[in-house]
Amino acid sequence: MQKVLIEAFEGMVGKQNCWSNIEDTMAYSYDAFPEEPKAPDIVVKPQNYEQISSIIKLCNENSIPLIVRGAGTNLSGGTLPVNGGCVMLMSGFNNILEINMDDLYAVVQAGVVTQKFADAVAKKGLLYPPDPASLKVSTLGGNVAENSGGLRALKYGVTSHYLMGVKFLDSEGNFIKGGGKPVKLVTGYNLPGLMLSSEGTLGVMVEFILKLVPPPQSRKSLLVIYSDLIKASQTVSDIISSKIVPATLEILDNFTIQTVEKFHHLGLPISAQAILLIEVDGHEAQVEDEYKKVADICKSFGGEVHIAKDDTERDSLWQARRDALSSLARLNPTLILEDATVPRSKVPAMMQAINDIAKKYNLLIGTFGHAGDGNLHPTILTDKRNVEEMKRVEKAIDEIFEITLKLEGTLSGEHGIGIAKAKYLESEVGKSTIAFMKRLKYGLDPNNILNPHKMSL
Ligand SMILES: Cc1cc2nc3c(=O)[nH]c(=O)nc-3n(C[C@H](O)[C@H](O)[C@H](O)COP(=O)(O)OP(=O)(O)OC[C@H]3O[C@@H](n4cnc5c(N)ncnc54)[C@H](O)[C@@H]3O)c2cc1C
Repeated sequence: MQKVLIEAFEGMVGKQNCWSNIEDTMAYSYDAFPEEPKAPDIVVKPQNYEQISSIIKLCNENSIPLIVRGAGTNLSGGTLPVNGGCVMLMSGFNNILEINMDDLYAVVQAGVVTQKFADAVAKKGLLYPPDPASLKVSTLGGNVAENSGGLRALKYGVTSHYLMGVKFLDSEGNFIKGGGKPVKLVTGYNLPGLMLSSEGTLGVMVEFILKLVPPPQSRKSLLVIYSDLIKASQTVSDIISSKIVPATLEILDNFTIQTVEKFHHLGLPISAQAILLIEVDGHEAQVEDEYKKVADICKSFGGEVHIAKDDTERDSLWQARRDALSSLARLNPTLILEDATVPRSKVPAMMQAINDIAKKYNLLIGTFGHAGDGNLHPTILTDKRNVEEMKRVEKAIDEIFEITLKLEGTLSGEHGIGIAKAKYLESEVGKSTIAFMKRLKYGLDPNNILNPHKMSL
């Protein structure tokens, strides 16, 4: 990058908030998707919204790619600076501006870490349900940009169900406001909806209005052990079709159970072929009724049901699930986590297909995920230096997505498209949808400075 541009960025945010040495920029050359790192030309950390506006204007006038970065935990290469450019850090915008107890909403800045927000809300006796497994580090900006879901999504929904309003800056640095504080609001275009899943390609989001809900009065958590993976997945579709919606319904296969146990010693049954982690919540009488029905369904598929006796036992069950990805990541140098999502009744077919693909290509694939949402995470453990194995990995991934779409599923339940799945997008949405997305993108960002290359844009 020319010296004069570097000086212009420094003039805007101060030298102490601007980095252009390769030793510093390399730290922002990758995210949680295993792609070759690519350093940006410059990294900036603005301190106020006016600085964001000036940075956008400078990038727009000079056609400099602008990549907004929350915590960089996305699993689709969404923050990778493919052709260099400017990475903008949102960590300076970490204030919770209001938690409104009368109208049940909060106003927050985009760089607030999800867990910090959820804890602040809980202290006031309320609940912010979206809880991606990365919540200890990921930011609300990243959650909205990826429309993230979590363990509670089955009953409580994903980020989109809680986004009431958004403030963002467009590709010319203008302030735009969408949505607001009333629970009913149909004024103009649904701009919060437009920003959801936009992966940093349509604007720089700075503030949100998020809906809060009362927490459930009571809950019960179950660990169900199976000697047959497919029976465990059949249980999932049976629970859903019997019209019970647990708060959480997660699956871990044998390989994942063994790996989590090896690293975290939580007392998981390592010989089980699968476990389901289930939580029902709500009014006490409803919980009593539902957990018994759920337990009966589990038993009818051969599941051995254990009920968490207290919160400590419950927390260690959820920890097991949250540790799944990090545990698998410790086994091999390269981990590719997929996000194949199918209608819930197709979970058994998808589980079977993943098993068959692992065997066909002789690959290590651990599968876990939000089974109640049909959102599975087949996780391939490999080493990207092994050229021959990587060819098999690529074929396996192609096949996983081919089957997902055949089962009327989707490429992404929660991790987004980024660069990771750009090549498959057309096969899900079709040519004319891609053309429409391009018209929208280029209409709003004619110089394509906002996170170019992502979603094939
Ligand atoms: C161990 C682990 C577990 C995970 N578990 C889950 C899970 O259970 N559910 C789930 O949905 N995801 C999960 N993820 C994926 C990831 O955590 C989410 O996608 C998360 O929302 C990303 O947040 P982030 O702050 O890290 O965003 P980043 O990775 O920094 O950015 C993600 C995208 O959002 C854009 N962006 C970020 N902030 C803004 C902003 N203010 N304005 C405009 N665009 C912005 C970026 O440009 C990028 O395209 C997991 C990841 C890891 C590593």
